[in-house]
Amino acid sequence: MSFHPLGLSDELLSAVADSGYTEPTDIQRQAIPLVLMGKDVVGVAQTGTGKTASFVLPLIDILAQGRSRARMPRSLIIAPTRELADQVAQNFEKYGRNHKLTMALLIGGVGFGDQDKLLEKGVDVLIATPGRLLDQFERGKILLSGVDILVIDEADRMLDMGFIPDVERICSLLGRNRQTLLFSATMPPPIKKLADKFMSSPKQVES
Ligand code: AMP
Repeated sequence: MSFHPLGLSDELLSAVADSGYTEPTDIQRQAIPLVLMGKDVVGVAQTGTGKTASFVLPLIDILAQGRSRARMPRSLIIAPTRELADQVAQNFEKYGRNHKLTMALLIGGVGFGDQDKLLEKGVDVLIATPGRLLDQFERGKILLSGVDILVIDEADRMLDMGFIPDVERICSLLGRNRQTLLFSATMPPPIKKLADKFMSSPKQVES
């Protein structure tokens, strides 16, 4: 099966074709149409299954409609490590070439100056590790109430690293009327609880 029936735009299909991918992976085939329909999705998938593109591709199409607002990111992706946040950012750059989306990466170890300027202008996509995001929130640099889509990537690693209280705090700072996507290689009870508390009738897909 090709990418065509999934509902992605022609611009995005051409970026996917340029990457050399001809067929969606299992998780992409299942998740992309649900995300485009605005559903909350729990994706049970390991790294290596193509899970990143399964949320990055539909997000680019959703965000292409609409404009960024000063200090109010429209989408937020939280990842447990700087490396993973960076990989997600690279995926946005690769597939989002034909779109004019603005993006900021909030990870520890990078000075606040450039991040502050970007956030002040407003970004479509904010990719962050939980601690750095909360730092910036406390410093009054971002308003999280405008986030329409939240992605929690590698939730089980967040759990292993002790980040679930931070993730819960972030979820409680966002507006209620949002779409939430959660990806995790496994679904231990604390992650199920997180999904029950902060997601609305999620569809579960597995790879
Ligand atoms: P991920 O599971 O998101 O870390 O992706 C694992 C690897 O699969 C990455 O190197 C991607 O570039 C690659 N990939 C993602 N989607 C596809 C696809 N549809 N066909 C072939 N490779 C892909």
